[in-house]
Order: sequence, then structure tokens, then C-alpha cells
Amino acid sequence: KESNTKENNVAKIKVVVRKRPLNKKEIARKEDDIVTVVDNAYLNVHEPKLKVDLTAYVEKHEFCFDAVLGEHVTNDEVYQVTVEPIIPTIFQRTKATCFAYGQTGSGKTFTMQPLPIRAAEDLVRFLHQPVYRNQQFKLWLSYFEIYGGKLFDLLSDRKKLCMREDGRQQVCIVGLQEFEVSDVQIVKEYIEKGNSARSTGSTGANEESSRSHAILQLAVKKHSEVKESKRNNDGNESRIGRVVGKISFIDLAGSERGADTTDNDRQTRIEGAEINKSLLALKECIRALDNDQIHIPFRGSKLTEVLRDSFVGNSRTVMISCISPNAGSCEHTLNTLRYADRVK
Ligand code: ADP
Ligand code: MG
Repeated sequence: KESNTKENNVAKIKVVVRKRPLNKKEIARKEDDIVTVVDNAYLNVHEPKLKVDLTAYVEKHEFCFDAVLGEHVTNDEVYQVTVEPIIPTIFQRTKATCFAYGQTGSGKTFTMQPLPIRAAEDLVRFLHQPVYRNQQFKLWLSYFEIYGGKLFDLLSDRKKLCMREDGRQQVCIVGLQEFEVSDVQIVKEYIEKGNSARSTGSTGANEESSRSHAILQLAVKKHSEVKESKRNNDGNESRIGRVVGKISFIDLAGSERGADTTDNDRQTRIEGAEINKSLLALKECIRALDNDQIHIPFRGSKLTEVLRDSFVGNSRTVMISCISPNAGSCEHTLNTLRYADRVK
């Protein structure tokens, strides 16, 4: 009982900011680091401005979040602050989401990549505990991408997927391949496979992947023996399991991409509009969750529709807002912090 209370005390919504260090290029350009981590909750941004008389002056912006992680914080510490507390709740019907938000180059992928691996490690350890061992729980992994409002399976040759809702308002992504994972090495391999399948167009890998949302899901399912015997061969054997809880890791499209709505290229404009729509819809959904609203506006975008079942009932949401420290990124950094501020 006691542990139960503790697990239920995990915050429903947590907003964390991570600042990356200045990179070599920024140092070579002698760019200022304008972000100061005051303590583990507060940070300041010193916005450089050029006055008419050309004397530089600085405007200070102060922000407070659930946690602020500076440039010396390791990925392990990020895990401890963000995902680790949620892990036990996954076995208690919780559907959790962990987002990385921020401009391209701010550290979203760097931050997000290790999290599912560490989470899988912990989930597998839980599965082997005596309390769970007899319950036939299994861990399943899927990895897909939302690009231009369409879904693609990153673990089966970018097969195009479509979404359906069943009668109980459960989201079903038709054809999405799920793989049972029993050890962490396999998880790593699937993640690598999925990463190499992420959108890469003529403009280069990083450029294109910044226009898509990548969603990796780890689901704990309970398997009943009756249904097990009906296992068919269409590759969808995981459907026979009932989802107990799951956690989704979402490496969001670069937040600056949402502003590409006036670009000369039509395709870029369409993608920009879709990204803008999805990031706005996401903010509205998290706010609705935070206010305990009954109606969550998940219909606002493909991203929020896909995550619909993670926004209802027993949900946990972690938003990791990644920011660049250099003066040149000031506007994007302030936008990211304001977005995070509004989510809270
Ligand atoms: P994004 O996914 O937001 O576009 P990346 O995760 O690709 O950004 O990060 C951009 C670059 O910065 C990468 O080379 C990455 O290794 C580096 N980087 C990001 N965050 C950190 C950090 N906290 N410490 C060290 N290097 C980082
Ligand atoms: Mg990235």
C-alpha cells in the first residue's frame, strides 16, 4: 500500500528544461552563452539587444520549471529526473508520454535517444520481479514517424500506416509492427534500425528528420493463455495481449519548422503548417490535462490523435524542453521557454 501511494504521487505533468553546452562552432564564433541556470528550478535568459545608439544592452527573462538541467547534467541524470519515477506506474495502467521539444540542434535527439533504452532496462527488471513474474507480462516495442501528417513504420521499411479508433475509443494504428523485447540489446538494435529509416530527403538526414515526429512506444502487455492458442501468422501476434500500460517517447519536429509557413517551396509550407498545428494541439492537450478537463482537444492534429489514449485516464506527461545557449538562438530559446511555460 505504501509503495502504491508513493507511485501515485508521481506528478501528472512535469516540465523540465535542458540546456546544452555551447558547441565548437559557437565557441569559434565567440558567441555569448546567454542562458544562466540559477538553481535546479530557475533559469535566466539574457536577451542581447542593439539599441539605436548601438550600445548593446541586455534584457533579463526569468523562468521557473519543475526542473532545470544545465550543461553538465548527464543523460543518466536526465533519466532519473524525467522517466525513472514513472516506470513503476506503467504496471498500474498508466499511459505515459515523454516529449522532447525544441529548435533543431538544441539536443532533442541527444536527450531522447538513451531514455527508451534505460526505460526498457528498468521495465524488464520489473517484469522479472516475483510479484509480476506470474502474470505473464511482456514488453513490446514499436517505432514510427509522423511526417507531413502521415504515419510511417520505422521498423518495417517505412510502410505507410493508418489510424483507426475502435468502439472503446482506443487508438489502433493498423499494420504497425510490434516486437517483443526481452533484453536491452534488442531494444538498442531496433532503435538503431528505426533511426536509419527516419525521413531522409535530398537535403540531408538531419534537415529532413527535423520535420518529423518520431514516436517510440514501449508497452507492457498481459497475455492470456486462451487467446495465445489462437495466435495467427499475420505478424500481429502482439494484438492478443492486453495493454497494461505503456510509455511513448516522442522526439518532436524542430519547433522552428512550424514557422516555415511562408516558405517559397509548397511542400515545405505544407509540412510547416502541419508541424505548427501539431505543436499547438499538443500544448492545448497538455493544458487540458493539467486542468483536469474532461474534453481533451486531441482532434487538433495527427500527433495528438495518435496519442489520444495517453491523454485520458491515468496518464503521466513529461515535457523536456531543449534549449541552445548561444546568443544567436535567443529568439528560438525564448519561444521554447514560453511554450514550456504555457504547458505548465
Ligand atoms: P536536435 O535533435 O534537437 O536537432 P541534437 O540532439 O541532434 O539536436 O543535438 C545537436 C548536436 O548537439 C549534436 O551533435 C549533439 O551531440 C550535441 N548535443 C546536444 N545536447 C548535448 C549535450 N547536453 N551535451 C553535449 N552535446 C550535446
Ligand atoms: Mg534530432
